[in-house]
Amino acid sequence: MRQLNLKCGNCESNRVVLNGRNSSGSQTYRCKNCGCCRVLNSVKKKKDIDIEALLKVYQENKSLRLTGIFFGISHVTVFNKLKKISHSSLST
Ligand SMILES: [Zn+2]
Repeated sequence: MRQLNLKCGNCESNRVVLNGRNSSGSQTYRCKNCGCCRVLNSVKKKKDIDIEALLKVYQENKSLRLTGIFFGISHVTVFNKLKKISHSSLST
């Protein structure tokens, strides 16, 4: 195992070594400091979407699908985001 110029995503230690590949074939590393195993260069990234703009577009179109196309996300994501908004506005 060789040392890498990487930082552990958990404890920020640089005592990180390669730990083979996981079932989907992504390279993983193991932190010698805290022992956590993670995928290197994880590509999962959440899109930042302006909730107010999303709500505005939805109110204009009254369509989850059109709103999703407008923001480049799925209509299910639009629905979940709108659900979150209504939940948070009810609790306050
Ligand atoms: Zn660590």
